[in-house]
Amino acid sequence: MKNIRVGIPRALLYYRYADAWKTFIEELGYEVITSPETTAGILKDGIKKSVGDLCLPVKTFLGHVESLKDSVDFLFIPRYISVEHDAYMCPKILGLPDVVRACFTNLPRIIDPMFNIKKDKDNTITEFSRQVARILSLEPEAVEKSFIKNSGAGYMNEQEEYSLTDKKINVGLIGRPYLLFDRYLGKNLFRTLSELGANPVYIQPSENEITEAMTVIPKWVYWSMGKEVTASAHAFFKDDKIDGIINICSATCGPDSFTGDLIRKRLNTRNKPYMTLSVDEHASDTGIQTRVEAFVDMIGKVIV
Ligand code: SF4
Repeated sequence: MKNIRVGIPRALLYYRYADAWKTFIEELGYEVITSPETTAGILKDGIKKSVGDLCLPVKTFLGHVESLKDSVDFLFIPRYISVEHDAYMCPKILGLPDVVRACFTNLPRIIDPMFNIKKDKDNTITEFSRQVARILSLEPEAVEKSFIKNSGAGYMNEQEEYSLTDKKINVGLIGRPYLLFDRYLGKNLFRTLSELGANPVYIQPSENEITEAMTVIPKWVYWSMGKEVTASAHAFFKDDKIDGIINICSATCGPDSFTGDLIRKRLNTRNKPYMTLSVDEHASDTGIQTRVEAFVDMIGKVIV
């Protein structure tokens, strides 16, 4: 109705909140434009725009910004600092609007409301909505109503659902959603495993599973997605139906090196086959394919 286009980069928290964000913005009367799936070209553009020491998912995010910036009136890049009371987002995610501004000139205006439960407590959504309303010159009450209505929207609905089957080899996949579910960055692990005759399994751990996992490691994990990755690993290590686990992570990710260490040293008490796949812009598809094939082959020999 307003004929104004709002761009959402298909990277990072898109893989968590895409549905909620899209319906929220559309209900406010704007057209939502999402960047296409990640390609080699998008990643290359992101690398060209990068400054300093950025991880692969953030470089990719910059490539998505590049692909959108000339065709939209606004970019939606909210600043998610904390979405629960006992954890933060990674510093690279909470500083994302600043990173984007530092790497580009001539950007459309960025809608960058802050979501910070630890600071704003019961008023988090009101404060978030007020900032959106100010940037878009809307009534804060209408924005808040729409955000509350849409914030329960599910995520990952663009992905196929995978769960345990009676196939011979079940492989649990853990990793941040923006790596696992980005088919280019995540090396299409779901399909690769299926083609090898294995069954890829992904779970979204419940609050109880997260709390339980935190009690068996020596140190509480204070990053939201790091907690989920750790809890998924714990659930898979305990589950007799899971034959092996693959953890995909970004090669230069500080939080992942911390949680990866905890998973390897503290959770794998039953010596289940476990492999870390660290990816960066130099990771070769063939190299990853070979490692996954060898992993599945090894599990096949162990469980016969
Ligand atoms: S958690 Fe790791 S991969 Fe994710 S944005 Fe932060 S540094 Fe990058």
